[in-house]
Amino acid sequence: MLFDKFQTMADFQAELAERDVVPFGAVTEQILSPTEGVVEGHKVILAGTNNYMGLSFDPRCIAAAQAAVAKWGTGTTGSRLANGSFAEHEALEQEIARFYGVGHAIVFSTGYAATMGMCSTLAGPGDVILLDADSHASIYAGVKLSDADIIRYKHNDPDDLAKRMRRLGDRAGQTLIIAEGIYSMLGDVAPLQEIAEVKREYGGYLLVDEAHSMGVLGDTGRGAAQAAGVEDDVDFTVGTFSKSLGSIGGFCVSRHAELEAIRFCIKAYIFTASSSPSVIASTREALRIISSEPERRQKVWDNAKRLYEGLKALGLPVGPTASPVVAVEMTDRSRTIDCWKALMEAGVYVNLVIPPASPSTNFLLRNSVSAAHSAEQIDAIISAYAGLKEAGLFEPAQAA
Ligand code: PMP
Repeated sequence: MLFDKFQTMADFQAELAERDVVPFGAVTEQILSPTEGVVEGHKVILAGTNNYMGLSFDPRCIAAAQAAVAKWGTGTTGSRLANGSFAEHEALEQEIARFYGVGHAIVFSTGYAATMGMCSTLAGPGDVILLDADSHASIYAGVKLSDADIIRYKHNDPDDLAKRMRRLGDRAGQTLIIAEGIYSMLGDVAPLQEIAEVKREYGGYLLVDEAHSMGVLGDTGRGAAQAAGVEDDVDFTVGTFSKSLGSIGGFCVSRHAELEAIRFCIKAYIFTASSSPSVIASTREALRIISSEPERRQKVWDNAKRLYEGLKALGLPVGPTASPVVAVEMTDRSRTIDCWKALMEAGVYVNLVIPPASPSTNFLLRNSVSAAHSAEQIDAIISAYAGLKEAGLFEPAQAA
């Protein structure tokens, strides 16, 4: 039967319904601010969004979107290659290239399309792709479509990458190395200095997905490669507008002029409608704001450290360093679901992550902070976890 393979998922959904818990696709009934909403009947602090710079309600972004919808209409009704390239798209491409200090940029309709499109197109039959084992689903989807030879290196392990590059011999120069800036599930940062050194030694091309690190890392918010001082070693930077820029869409920037020819070969760019001009207009405004308001970066890090230290002090297993993504790793599925539900009831909405979405076999309560969270909200999140711990909801092994 065609549907047999979905039975496990159907059983899991039935289990969740029986436990009266809606962790996936919980409906947000009201958004009260960038950090508060009403979700499935609970008034909650939003502690699982990727709204790192807190810009989703910025009046300047809203005004830009409103003016654009009045000027350009609700949608382009076409692909960038046909009738869907408006002056807004072109302006954003120039601005994002300028933001990264390179000559070329492509804007995509989603971050997923940007990453998947670039990974599926850059390398082809006869080429090699070396990707981090914990890469995002959009990277895996892209490399699968590429028809290149796919090799995984151990997560954040430049020695393993070097070993595999060495084994490739002459083919190393034909290799696309893929890493992410900040990894979305555990919040750990890629060792880009060491990865860049491997590339310098063996050759190849480096693509970095800065989806979670744009805005958050680097002197001007370009991401992990800027923070590591290795931007010159990066051939392609991809990213998204749906996190720090508070809208939706994605991009690729590069110093290689070939990007202009590559553009016309990316199916995820050619065969999909371009973003609505209102989305592009708010993104342009958000890009201007993250460049001109570095205090947002400071604030997101202050909040990240506050949450990380607070959860660590409770004895929860939170990973080695603070980051705007703070994941509590659990080993028991049922307990993790109970904790997620109890957090909702305590007014805190985090992400429940279960394998294969989590990088290991563990279950995650994935928290993320925004520059828009107040210190009091961060403390309220920590208190909610303290309440769970007092109620004995964490496994004994993890509850210090
Ligand atoms: N790359 C990474 C590393 C991501 O985490 C995500 C989204 N979580 C994407 C790409 C896709 O971005 P979007 O959701 O904006 O399509």
